[in-house]
Amino acid sequence: MANILVYIDTPAAEPTKAQRELLALAAGLGTPVAAVAATEAHPAGDAAAGLGAHGAATVYIGTDGADELLVAGKAAFVAAAARAADAAAVLLPNTGEGKEIAARVGIKLSSGVITDAIGIAPDLTVTKPVLAGSYTVTARAVHGIPVVTVKPNSIDPAEPTGGAPEVVALDAGEPGPAARVTGTAAKPASRRPALQEARIVVAGGRGVDGDFGPVEELADALGAAVGASRAATDAGWIGHDAQVGQTGTTVSPQLYVSAGISGAIQQKAGMQTSTVIVAVNKDEDAPVFEIADFGIVGDLATVLPQAAAEIRRRRSE
Ligand SMILES: Cc1cc2nc3c(=O)[nH]c(=O)nc-3n(C[C@H](O)[C@H](O)[C@H](O)COP(=O)(O)OP(=O)(O)OC[C@H]3O[C@@H](n4cnc5c(N)ncnc54)[C@H](O)[C@@H]3O)c2cc1C
Repeated sequence: MANILVYIDTPAAEPTKAQRELLALAAGLGTPVAAVAATEAHPAGDAAAGLGAHGAATVYIGTDGADELLVAGKAAFVAAAARAADAAAVLLPNTGEGKEIAARVGIKLSSGVITDAIGIAPDLTVTKPVLAGSYTVTARAVHGIPVVTVKPNSIDPAEPTGGAPEVVALDAGEPGPAARVTGTAAKPASRRPALQEARIVVAGGRGVDGDFGPVEELADALGAAVGASRAATDAGWIGHDAQVGQTGTTVSPQLYVSAGISGAIQQKAGMQTSTVIVAVNKDEDAPVFEIADFGIVGDLATVLPQAAAEIRRRRSE
């Protein structure tokens, strides 16, 4: 069976859900093999054992400090791993960094790059949403091997198989032109799930009027990530990394709660493939209600705390 290379961005003893989704997708196409670009911030540690236990037959570990060179070192390593494995396809996470690495790997391997994938058929035809999720299309790489970035929450994650992988140390060699990182500062840790991977997102817009308290309260009751419209991030009420939409993060959770967001096309572009959309807006004509599965016409400052209280009550029963 052909080897399918999975790029592991943040190695840990237990692979993340998004990483297990990539391993499951690879297992459906051939033999999963993994490339772990160990960095100072994310050392390889026990990652190989965890990846093997979830189906990776071989784990390539980078031997040099890939994080000193932004994505250039990682891209050189992934390309080297793809060559070493004679991979038939390369799968990466659909993050900003994942897409940038994919683009560089595509050039290094003279291969086609496809982003935003939600599925890959055995003949390596890729399914992806386009035009802000209005259509689903299929695409094929017609040159080299497909280098594909895959959206999270698209595939059921791999279950443990109990396998033990072959571990191969791999030097990526010359990365080519690259910027060098001269200093880093840790981001304050959040106990909430990462926005792009979260099964539930509660997002607030201009309607929160500066107070994300009700949005955060409902998010915490649901174990959700907090998102925002660009109006809210531009106002400085929440960090730009919370922005959902065309120029922010694209999310596709099982539940997206939109609160005080009108539903402009650029906001819809980042969330309309969510499985269930609940909109809370005091204007019954707000465009967001056109794509909502459930709509509540009301003041979010009243509706969200009530919903949070009811969820907490039911959870404690
Ligand atoms: C190139 C470009 C890229 C863009 N990218 C993005 C993007 O990535 N993401 C994004 O979100 N936007 C993006 N935008 C901006 C987008 O066009 C909208 O301006 C923005 O989404 C509006 O944010 P909003 O819905 O929070 O604000 P508004 O459109 O002002 O809507 C606020 C809503 O809150 C409701 N409301 C007010 N008070 C309450 C209350 N107390 N309770 C309940 N509801 C209330 C109102 O009825 C209204 O519907 C982009 C725009 C451009 C031009």
